[in-house]
Order: sequence, then structure tokens, then C-alpha cells
Amino acid sequence: MIPSLEALKCIIYLCRMIETVARKDIRQLSLEQIVEYFVSIGDKPFRAKQVYEWLWKKSAKDFDQMTNISLATRKRLKEDFVINHIAVDHMQRSSDGTIKNAVKLFDGLTVESVLIPTDSRITACISSQVGCSLDCHFCATARLKRMRNLNPDEIYDQVVAIKEQSETFFERPLTNIVFMGMGEPLLNYNNVIEAIDKITSPRGLGISPKRITLSTVGIPKMIKKMGDDEVKFNLAVSLHSAIDSIRSSVMPMNLKNPLEDLLDALRCWHSKTKRKVTYEYVVWKGVNDREEDARALVRFCKVVPAKVNLIEYNPIDDGAYQQASEEVMEMYTRLLEKADIVVNIRRSRGKDIDAACGQLANKS
Ligand code: SAH
Repeated sequence: MIPSLEALKCIIYLCRMIETVARKDIRQLSLEQIVEYFVSIGDKPFRAKQVYEWLWKKSAKDFDQMTNISLATRKRLKEDFVINHIAVDHMQRSSDGTIKNAVKLFDGLTVESVLIPTDSRITACISSQVGCSLDCHFCATARLKRMRNLNPDEIYDQVVAIKEQSETFFERPLTNIVFMGMGEPLLNYNNVIEAIDKITSPRGLGISPKRITLSTVGIPKMIKKMGDDEVKFNLAVSLHSAIDSIRSSVMPMNLKNPLEDLLDALRCWHSKTKRKVTYEYVVWKGVNDREEDARALVRFCKVVPAKVNLIEYNPIDDGAYQQASEEVMEMYTRLLEKADIVVNIRRSRGKDIDAACGQLANKS
């Protein structure tokens, strides 16, 4: 009997899983653990440094790329470990230059990441989870079930892939990283922090934490933790309303994490890090487009030093939400500026390929 295509796919998936379970991904090991491994097989400890450099700084996808390691050692490494590097399965380019990547993970799941080019910077927008467990009503990713957290190396690899695309297609270096892809980074805290440590380390990509922004729906407990950990990167909070009842109607997580708790956490965060917070804010027709909404935002911005990014809404399906008019955007800008709050209007990028904020839904 010839097995069906589905059955074959299932067999391949199971084989991969068995292989992965049998051999550990070497990138789950710290440098110290790799040293221990080399000592345990009777090799020199300095070998660990060489391998570690290949794994992170040089992003080797295969042990055979490690040309300063002997063939025999490479063979032994292959017997003991795997390198579960991500693969860019599919790449789409927008008419505005934006690139969207469908990224295949070792277990067959997919996430998306985006390269956003502007005159002054090239930004990597990366994912932290497969799917999302939050239920923000205006976001396409929310329609996908949360499958799992990304590992630190899977987060790191997205940056590496976009860094390479930046050099290949734009002949410019990658300048900024934003955690604004799929998932909620603060619900995958340890892995996100470990990835950022590697991205910023001279042993990794050596990118300054000042060029990294973590965007969160705003989980008070975790924002406080980031303050306690004295993180050096930037924080953006997806606010969308400074009035509890309205915020809860578009972001149900606000019911359990009301604005007062959010502000309390942001106060702690600011006292520890001394950094401004950025509020991301979409204005929708009939939802938060009254002067009263803008005034509530102004008051909210006065508590902790903050700036505001007014993000253009990217429609996702049935038209339940619609971008507010230009006059409303001007009203918001005027009131914020009058109160000396820096406000930027962020136009959509990559809309034609569903690569803009909130549009990542593994459609391709
Ligand atoms: N979970 C994180 C990061 C992912 S969303 C967070 O909530 O911040 C990244 C940003 O895109 C957030 O500010 C989010 O509110 C915004 N966003 C989601 N859907 C959008 C849409 N359809 N149009 C515009 N922005 C959207």
C-alpha cells in the first residue's frame, strides 16, 4: 500500500521530532556547558570558544561550516548535537520595499518577520511566539491560536536573516529591532531576554540595546520585572485608549490588568531605567475618536515621561474597525503637542503584502 502524502508528511515530522529529541540543539548550551562538553570528550576547553563563535557570531547553520574545527571533531559534534536553524521558507516584497519572511521552525511551525526600510534606518520586526494568546480584537495574529513560545535562538535567527537581507538587498546595515511581530514578548520573558542578551553581546551580533524596542500589550507584573532587571532596551506599550472601559472593549486583557496597574508598573519601570516609554495608539472611528479620548491620553502621558506613536490602522478583515479621519488625527496631534508631548504619526508599511502592524497571520 502506498502511504498518502499526509501520512508521509506525518512520518517525516515524527522522524524529525525523534531526531531532535535524541540529539540536543547545541545552541541550548551556554559557553560554560560547551566547555564542559569538550572536557568530557577529552578535547581542549578553548575549542568551546571557537564553536560558540561559529554558533552565534557567525551564525553557522551546519557543523561543516566550522572550518577551523577538525573533521573528526565536527563528526563527533554531529553525532551528539543538531543546530536547529530557522529557514526562510518564503519571502514577499512590497512595492514600498518592505520584505515579509515566512520563517519555518524546526518542528514545522511558521512565524513571520518583517524588514522595514526607510531612508534613515532598516528595522527588523520580529516575532516572539507562534500565534498569540491575547485577544486584541483589531489584530490578525490574535486569530491564530498560540502554539508555543519561540526559543532564544529562533528569535536571534530572525534578526540574522533580516540582517543578511538588509546587506544583500539594500547594501545597508540593519539598524533597529522591534518586537512587534507575532506574539506577546512579555509572555515569553526569559527567552526574549536571553535572545536580546545574545543580540547585544559582542559575542553575538553586538547591536546596541538602545536600538531595540520591546512592544507589549502592557502586563504590569512583567513591566515591573523589566525595571527590576534594569534592562537597557526601549519599551513601547500598546495603549489604544486611556479609558478603561474603551481599552477593555478592544483589548480584553485590560479587564484583568487595568490602566491604574499599568501606570503603577510604568512608574516603577521609569524610576529604575530613567527611560521614556512610547505609547502605541491607533485611532478608530467611533471607538476612541472623541476629544475626550485625546484628553484622557494627554493626562495619561503626564504620569510617566512618554511619547506617542499614532499608528495608522491596517484593516484586517470585515471592516469592523476603521481608521479615524485626518481631522481626528490632527485633533490628537494638536492636543498632545500643546501639552508638550512628542507625537509621531506612523504610516503603514508593507500593507500590500499583509506585512504591516497587526497583519501577520501566516497567510502565505
Ligand atoms: N503583543 C505586542 C506586540 C505585537 S503587536 C503588543 O501588543 O504590543 C505590535 C503593534 O501593532 C501593537 O502596538 C499592536 O497594538 C499593533 N497592531 C495590532 N493590530 C494592528 C492593526 N490591525 N493595525 C495597526 N496596528 C496594529
